[in-house]
Amino acid sequence: MESANHLNQQEYGAIERAPLPRNMIENSMFEEEPDVVDLAKESPSYHIDSDDVTYEPRSSRLLVRGLGENDMDEDEEDYESSARLLGMSFMNRSSSQRSAASSYTCQQPSRSCSTLSTKTTAVGVLILVLVVSMFMVIYFVPSCTFTKKGCQKSNSSMGSIYPISTSGELFPWTDLRLPLSVHPVHYNISLHPDLNSMTFQGNVSIVVKVLHETKNIILHSSDMNIIKVTFEDKEYRFLEYKPWQQIAIKFPEDLKKGQYVLKISYKANLSNSYDGFYNSSYVDTAGTKRVLAATQFEPLAARKAFPCFDEPAFKSTFVVKMTRDAKYISLSNMPKIKTTDLNENGLQEDEFESSVKMSTYLVAFIVAEFSSHSKNVSKTTVSVYAVPDKKDQVHYALETACKLLVFYNRFFEIDYPLSKLDLVAIPDFLAGAMENWGLITFRETTLLVGNQSSPFDKQLVTSVIAHELAHQWFGNLVTMRWWNDLWLNEGFATYMQYMSIENVFSNLDIDIEFLNVRFKALAKDALNSSHPVSAFVSTPEQVEEMFDSVSYEKGASILLMLNATLRDGEFRKGVIEYLQNYNLSNTESKDLWNSLSQVSKQSLNVSEMMNTWTVHKGFPLVTVKRSGTQVTLSQEHFLLNAENGTDDSLWHIPLTYVNDSCSVLRSCKQVFHLKDKADSLQLPGQVKWLKFNFRSDGFYIVHYDEQGWSDLISALKVDVNVLPSEDKAALINNIFALSRLGKVSFRQVLNLMEYIRNETETAPLTEALSQLGQIYRLLDKRSDLNLASRMTTYIKDHFGSLMESQSYEVETSVSKMTLRSALLETACALKGPNCTTQARHLFDQWLASNKTLQIPSDLMRTVFKVAAQTDEGWSELLDSYKHSIYDTEKRKMLEALASTQDVRKIIWILQKSLDGSEIQNQEFPLVIHTVCRDFAGYLYAWDFMKENWEKITQKFPVGSFAIQSIITSTTSQFSTKTHLTEVQNFFSSLGAKGSQMRIVQEAIETIKQNMRWMEKNLKTLQIWL
Ligand SMILES: [Zn+2]
Repeated sequence: MESANHLNQQEYGAIERAPLPRNMIENSMFEEEPDVVDLAKESPSYHIDSDDVTYEPRSSRLLVRGLGENDMDEDEEDYESSARLLGMSFMNRSSSQRSAASSYTCQQPSRSCSTLSTKTTAVGVLILVLVVSMFMVIYFVPSCTFTKKGCQKSNSSMGSIYPISTSGELFPWTDLRLPLSVHPVHYNISLHPDLNSMTFQGNVSIVVKVLHETKNIILHSSDMNIIKVTFEDKEYRFLEYKPWQQIAIKFPEDLKKGQYVLKISYKANLSNSYDGFYNSSYVDTAGTKRVLAATQFEPLAARKAFPCFDEPAFKSTFVVKMTRDAKYISLSNMPKIKTTDLNENGLQEDEFESSVKMSTYLVAFIVAEFSSHSKNVSKTTVSVYAVPDKKDQVHYALETACKLLVFYNRFFEIDYPLSKLDLVAIPDFLAGAMENWGLITFRETTLLVGNQSSPFDKQLVTSVIAHELAHQWFGNLVTMRWWNDLWLNEGFATYMQYMSIENVFSNLDIDIEFLNVRFKALAKDALNSSHPVSAFVSTPEQVEEMFDSVSYEKGASILLMLNATLRDGEFRKGVIEYLQNYNLSNTESKDLWNSLSQVSKQSLNVSEMMNTWTVHKGFPLVTVKRSGTQVTLSQEHFLLNAENGTDDSLWHIPLTYVNDSCSVLRSCKQVFHLKDKADSLQLPGQVKWLKFNFRSDGFYIVHYDEQGWSDLISALKVDVNVLPSEDKAALINNIFALSRLGKVSFRQVLNLMEYIRNETETAPLTEALSQLGQIYRLLDKRSDLNLASRMTTYIKDHFGSLMESQSYEVETSVSKMTLRSALLETACALKGPNCTTQARHLFDQWLASNKTLQIPSDLMRTVFKVAAQTDEGWSELLDSYKHSIYDTEKRKMLEALASTQDVRKIIWILQKSLDGSEIQNQEFPLVIHTVCRDFAGYLYAWDFMKENWEKITQKFPVGSFAIQSIITSTTSQFSTKTHLTEVQNFFSSLGAKGSQMRIVQEAIETIKQNMRWMEKNLKTLQIWL
């Protein structure tokens, strides 16, 4: 999946990096991670009264709403109390046990194997829990537990006090995870959605294999009305335990090993939220409302469309049949075999080929009125689908997907296995894109571009396509066994996205974007609220929260570091071996490391090194002290808010460095493996300076002694080209981070910044603007007008001549457009007269041309933002927003509309985007983010979020990326005690579901960090700005 944050990726000058990821379209970021032991497993040890057990994962209740449930409030109170009762670990996470939790990855061969980390603490806790549970079990269990034929003996390690199902009977399973005794082999799914009543009927026939004798079949089902269950053509009753979205079919006798057929028929509503089998609508250019139905299953929503074994390791084959009205088309993962006329009111049934073996979250189907263009490449027909009005905007995506498919086929040495690949732009879609096998779904913004689009706009579309295509191998062909290793999917797809674009579309200058992504990942991972790359997850909310910066961006960053450390070609060789070994099956992190270790036997123990990067949260700060040719190195955890003292995490760091005699070419790079807390290295000769972390390929921050910093700064002042641009950007990034940590004074930061007047390269300039912009906005939000205006002067002084020298003509280099966009957006935001005049001039020309003039795409947002500050400009933009069919432009118009300083307009746009009436609901996170950037809106946005919290969480599930983005936008610019208290009070007033969210911990930590920074640096700013 791709989170929706990509959509901010080209913001620089005026943006804060730390709070909002630019790249991820999918999800979360921040703190906290679960307890070592899944406390939910203990729940059966307590006697739970059925009245108490109303815990329902939030996302499921969104679907229930579609089925007519209305009293959310009561439900939510129940949710809290029962979650407390159940001891749900999501509600009960303790950061102190975090490091021990990380390597819990047990799943096979039996649920009873709790392979906790080797750390003794974890083992200790496990033993303790087992002892307690044994006691509870002996005390409470029904007698069946210990009989040979008893209650799931082979599967249930903990509990045998069963929850109460909906009917009042005992539900025969006691774990959020399904038993392993029964595996699905094949599904036949027949669906008939009715797009008038927004309901659907379904029949699913599942061939199951009984591996261990059992009296029960347990599978997932959520928010559906099950009409009939048959097993081997005999009807059976079923039990449902809604809190865990499970149903059970109980048999009087043990089922013998063998293959059977389970059939379930059911009815449900098409979902009103963005997951499951959901309904979406849009208004076409003729003003007619059109409806469609599409799916979004990852991570846990396939169970909302058909009863299934909804865990990634239960791979199976699928045949989908779709009944639809003749005016629609239907699409699914596989090619269509045939269409049958049903002779009932013009209904037709499409049948699709049997799928490859895959996980449930990758199943997809769509019923809509779409147009497409296709092309054959290798042995695959690639098609891009969009609503008819936008059918001319699919060509770039089609060409791009074909080129990337050829690249990946060659790179992985395994051909994409299906004969077709559809890419579909869905009008209302919350994620950025979703890699369903053979049927990738996108937001319109991430797939469609007009013919006139610049490479600047194409960069986003290319990135998202490259990401989703990489998933066809990483994720679809080889899948993580459980969501704790989500990074295997997402980190890899993110890394491959940059690598493939660098190879196939070198004109897109994607390296600058990837560098920013690494900086962003560092900023997130520096917080105490971060979590290890591979972290224990159990509850639905924990699974949702895994779609975050750590899984995606840190995952990609550590893969880059590994590739840069291995010898040429080894990384690819190991990856190919991994894909071949685990083709169509499931893996854990260690499987990848083992494959890579095998190819790099002589040079590096990959498992040993990489484990240190996946089991600890955070990253190391490397401190370098040089005395002549003797260099001492030490590492410690870079933790911005080390309130509980430092921990003793150690990383195996492949430290790279260059010196003054050779510093630009890759061949200059030297490597030293720092595995201990401290070590030293002897240089062969005298050097003037050393720069560590060559090209910022490594995921760590470097601090030098005073002499080390000043040698580097002097070298840059003498010759700005003495280092590659990534290294210069990293020096800027690191020194700001070190100043936040209190390791360097702000005066030193400003000292480094002096060199920037001679800088012309995009990466260091945009990094500097981004860092200064963050500080400016904090000062602005504190109403420290004096310092804010001095910061404005400082920025103009250091960047003014570059700002003035920018043209307003069409530009073709993406790197130059990125820089120009950052410079001019800042210049206009700071009301630089030349910039605002030029912007107004371009806007007037655009109006005069009846909106046909092409404003250079990298300048469009800046131009529109300036224009939106007048009533007339704002109205013109709103009118264009409503009528434009070009989504890239529309988004820029929307950002401009949301940047207004007029409070009435701010209120209007917040309300409209939340209720989805005139502004698409999917854009609410972007709207609130934009409103929060300026002084006029940010306090109002905070109040708006508080007042509308219930409504917001009905639309966007708790833990989802959208919620994370909303909370970050509204809180990350507070830097006073009053605001801290207010944020704390608000979220604690929500009870466990509010205050325990990882993003809330991150928000609080960020405010505290802002306060500390201000306390420490206000004086310096007063003196030195
Ligand atoms: Zn993804």
